[in-house]
Amino acid sequence: MVTFSTAQLRNVALVGHSGAGKTTLAEALLKRAGAISRAGRVEDGTAVCDTEPEEHRRHLSLSLALAPFEWTSEETGPCRVTLVDTPGWADFAAEVDAALRVVDCAVFVVSAVDGVRAGTERVWRRCEELGLPRLVFVNKLDKERADYEGTLAQLREAFGQGIAPLELPLGLESAFRGVADLLSDTAFVYSPDGTHRSEPIPDELADLEHEVHDALVEGIVVADDGLLERYLGGEVPSVHELEHALAHGVVAGSVFPVVLGSAATGVGVDRLADFLCEITPSPADRPPVTVTAGPTQVEVAPTASGPPLAFVFKTVADQFVGQLSLFKVLSGTIRADEVLVNPASGTAERLHGLFRLRGKEQLPATELVAGELAAVAKLAATRTGDTLAPKGTPVTVAPLTVPPPVYGVAIRARTQADDDKLSSALHRLEAEDVALHTARNDETHQTVLHGTGDIHLAVALERLARKFGVHVDVEDLRVPYRETVLGRAEAEGKHKKQSGGHGQYGVAWLRVEPLERGRGFEFVDSIVGGAIPRQFIPAVQRGVEETMAAGGVHGFPVVDVRVECFDGKYHSVDSSEMAFKLAAANGLRDALGRAGVSVLEPVSRLRIVVPSSLQGDVMGDINARRGRVQGTAALGAGEQEITALVPTAEALRYAIDLRSLTGGRGRFTITHDHYDVLPAHLVDRAAASLKASRA
Ligand code: GDP
Repeated sequence: MVTFSTAQLRNVALVGHSGAGKTTLAEALLKRAGAISRAGRVEDGTAVCDTEPEEHRRHLSLSLALAPFEWTSEETGPCRVTLVDTPGWADFAAEVDAALRVVDCAVFVVSAVDGVRAGTERVWRRCEELGLPRLVFVNKLDKERADYEGTLAQLREAFGQGIAPLELPLGLESAFRGVADLLSDTAFVYSPDGTHRSEPIPDELADLEHEVHDALVEGIVVADDGLLERYLGGEVPSVHELEHALAHGVVAGSVFPVVLGSAATGVGVDRLADFLCEITPSPADRPPVTVTAGPTQVEVAPTASGPPLAFVFKTVADQFVGQLSLFKVLSGTIRADEVLVNPASGTAERLHGLFRLRGKEQLPATELVAGELAAVAKLAATRTGDTLAPKGTPVTVAPLTVPPPVYGVAIRARTQADDDKLSSALHRLEAEDVALHTARNDETHQTVLHGTGDIHLAVALERLARKFGVHVDVEDLRVPYRETVLGRAEAEGKHKKQSGGHGQYGVAWLRVEPLERGRGFEFVDSIVGGAIPRQFIPAVQRGVEETMAAGGVHGFPVVDVRVECFDGKYHSVDSSEMAFKLAAANGLRDALGRAGVSVLEPVSRLRIVVPSSLQGDVMGDINARRGRVQGTAALGAGEQEITALVPTAEALRYAIDLRSLTGGRGRFTITHDHYDVLPAHLVDRAAASLKASRA
């Protein structure tokens, strides 16, 4: 490969709602640039950026993928554009976030048929937070029901000032044949091979052209106060002034050019490549990255001559080369075989194999300059989010945002062989996917996989099978119910056995009474006068504790109870620790039965963010789940935050239900809050499900 300087690089994320055409557009750009000889298809799994079988099966991008190509524009000369194709499905937001952290511009692919969808708005907000330059590509203008003006109106409504439509479509649906460029006042008509010729803009577009041209000018002048003032004073800026303000506005993240085309027919694809080279920033044009070096914050500029610094934004378990770490060179030049230190693990890592990636294809590289996105194989102790820097410069960057887990499934290894490999395979899967967490729940005895949604976890389990050969069965999550006593009661616990020689004998009188919720357990020894000899008291306590853990009247662990041992009997020969343990167990069971118990259920705190228009529906649904809304607050951007307490049993599928309730426009976090009494009519059901799980 030819070498490119930092100023000749463009790192561009393709983002937007699932199905908008991102993967197809990446394919079309690579094909048009000659990087691949034939565009692959999403439908048959031949697209460069769909690198995994789980993606082919679902026709969905599930993880980010890199796709570099070289392009020469008249204005800038040769550039290397590295596309980062991202998943559109909200379950995979962590992948999108990692991509946004390392690119210098995001292209929002919006379907002219479906318009701006939920996923698009969410990613836009994240770009806003990061100050990331943005461009919109309105796609699918060749498709039936394509509506450019409607889509543009939606873009202006959703993203407001700064939306600057640079083009108009020539024809629509099957008659879509090219674009009219509003700044140069020229039409570009496309041939089937993706090349174009220029023509005057047809007369029938004149009215629309005026209207959209005004929108374009308004979109651009907001980036320049002087220009805005003159424009508002009635002056019309020159094309040169507009181009200048546009370029500045894009880099500053305040003007968002809208271009259009069809990834399927190739219309507008070469112009998009030109725009990427000409108006989107290179890494050298972006603000320096703030890094932490010991106690201080330092700004690192992306210069090829600076000290080398790399940031690992993704890890992939590759069947052939083992672990592959994808990184961005934040500064300096990194050469193959260089040794850098990972401050997080303190390990010196030799960078043996450096690659540029094109989908899953690995193109060996010997040298990588600041700004490049590349990969290295077989790092020993480096994880996603780590940095690599020369020895003695412990530099770290802001951590990647990890979406909180909101959905879980319990898994059980299918065979002993699966069980043997399960924990190390899960560990490697977690290294690949920062949004995935596994945990053992000691109360329900389940291994639980937590993630962002049902599709996320289904994909994780398919990967577990394909990459690591580990098969698991999925079970419903059990709710960790508990039991507590309702009042005070006493009982005599007795264990007596006479069989042949040595007998077993012990008697312990126990008194149970409720403790405040959350206090757990208290054991009180008030034996006086040696009714039970000192050495047997710990055995009594153990008998009580083991019985509480094994389950009370309904079989759930017993909590929030004080147990007092106040009297007993012993036999100088037949008493033993075992006899007192068993006596205490009998006594506790009896005392619990006399006192009466209630079942407690865990209650979760949900913080739900939805568009204000959906607040009523969401609150109604919370009530239907036996939940209680605690408060609401307006968040700006037309969003409302609802805080609610909902029994955990009723919130297990909330990730799926909220998605269908809000069309994917809601998000939430869930944390355990407290235990509360389970209504009596639900106790039998809870006990039956516990029984079924033990069967
Ligand atoms: P992604 O989820 O955003 O990556 O979208 P894909 O690239 O997977 O495209 C989704 C579907 O839309 C696929 O069936 C594509 O063939 C189709 N598609 C993508 N771009 C266009 C386009 O410009 N025109 C038409 N007619 N179909 C398109």
